[in-house]
Amino acid sequence: MDMNNIESIVQQVLAEMRSSGSMPSAGGASVGPIPAKSRVAMLTSTGHFDIQEYAIPEVGDDDVLVKVEGCGVCGTDAHEFKRDPFGLIPVVLGHEGTGTIVKMGKNVKKDSAGKDLHLGDKVVTCMIFKDNPDITMFDLNKQNVGGADVYGLLPDDDVHLNGWFADYLLVRGGSTIFNVSDLDLDSRILIEPCAVLIHAVERAKTTGILRFNSRVVVQGCGPIGLICIAILKTMGIQNIVAVDGEEKRLSFAKEMGAGNTVNFKDHKGIEALTEAVKNAFGGYLADFAFQCTGSPVAHSNIYKFIRNGGGLCELGFFINGGDATINPHFDICSKEITTVGSWVYTLRDYATTFDFLKSAKDIGLPMSKLITHRFPLEKINEALETNLAMEGLKIAIVINS
Ligand SMILES: [Zn+2]
Repeated sequence: MDMNNIESIVQQVLAEMRSSGSMPSAGGASVGPIPAKSRVAMLTSTGHFDIQEYAIPEVGDDDVLVKVEGCGVCGTDAHEFKRDPFGLIPVVLGHEGTGTIVKMGKNVKKDSAGKDLHLGDKVVTCMIFKDNPDITMFDLNKQNVGGADVYGLLPDDDVHLNGWFADYLLVRGGSTIFNVSDLDLDSRILIEPCAVLIHAVERAKTTGILRFNSRVVVQGCGPIGLICIAILKTMGIQNIVAVDGEEKRLSFAKEMGAGNTVNFKDHKGIEALTEAVKNAFGGYLADFAFQCTGSPVAHSNIYKFIRNGGGLCELGFFINGGDATINPHFDICSKEITTVGSWVYTLRDYATTFDFLKSAKDIGLPMSKLITHRFPLEKINEALETNLAMEGLKIAIVINS
């Protein structure tokens, strides 16, 4: 018996131990008894998922079968659920998912970051590249993912296990997959939305204005704004002011690292609001601002909070919220404001996100509190309705919850 054999046997045994005590199936690289069928939540018409069962397909030499543990509900899922703007119905949604490798093809050895992959490892997917070499390479961090396919936004086909709102997902060869066994379930569910903010902060850094001692205003304290504050905090930025209209969210912003908060409902008119932001910074305007709401009025307002020569990152408009009015003379030109937009993330940002989530945990930021609702798969319609009702922050499907 050579060393390679011993190593693979040891890894197999470890993987089996990790997979919560389930018995290995006879032969083949798989962990535990894999059922013949998997449940999926199929969106069959607007506003309605059906729980359906499909045979678990053959796992090819380059494929990975993942047993789903959980998946966040994204705003994109809510839009698709309500109106089918992407024309995907019938579709298995869910792209913020994570789970355990229970079977893998013989060619699968490493994840997209070069880390080893074993049975029993916890993984997330990022996107599926077809033939765009500019974005398939991990080191090219300039291009965002626009145009790539994502599990959870694929049209239904013979495989059916194409989204994370299911018991199993088949990750096909050529997809990006990351080994995140060192993160807990809540952190793994939060990876995708956090990657959006890692990207935004990386975009902000390109201005050269965002520094260790910067005064930073974050407008909007939904999940996006709150995660933004958490990332700034892990970077060591101490002087953060959060702006929102809800006290509950503002107090959460403080837990995430905001030193001060401003409730815009307490201040009538943009002059009074600007004065309140200034006071919150001890009499100074912000060096840098993150605009995390989808409100055109909020976009118009935020320029007033920024000092001459300051910077702005706009990332709130993931859907078209309409036109905003600004005064180019006062707001941009005479103040020499540097603005950047931010959209989705790169593969590099995805890997950075894993480190951020570990740092956030290390310094005690309450990231898990972002997940305010957990539903089992069979209650997926209720989960989406809860998201649409704008109750809570992050809604998640957790299998067996
Ligand atoms: Zn998402």
